[in-house]
Amino acid sequence: MSRENSQTRPTSNDKLALQVQLVHEADIGHLDNLICPNCRHEAISVWFTHPAPDVYRTWFICADCDFHTRVQDLKRPTFFSDDRVSTELEERDLAIVRQSIFKRPPQRPM
Ligand SMILES: [Zn+2]
Repeated sequence: MSRENSQTRPTSNDKLALQVQLVHEADIGHLDNLICPNCRHEAISVWFTHPAPDVYRTWFICADCDFHTRVQDLKRPTFFSDDRVSTELEERDLAIVRQSIFKRPPQRPM
């Protein structure tokens, strides 16, 4: 009857595990044909952006569905290369960086 409340989502853990796996794959230099956590096709490609001097991001983009995710890197990714930099993503990223700078509200004495 009231199954809605007790419904656990067994696939969400799975999905997370696959995302962790993606990050790991990128780390060891596997940048193409990775398994998509969403559609399960081997259709993920890894892209990088470098929107600011200290900012690196790794993007995972699926060619078969609209899945995409990105992680912020604390340092230059091991397999970062200019060939893999997407200027389109970089522009989007830059917008995000700008937004986060401008969104930080100044301390107001009120
Ligand atoms: Zn997909």
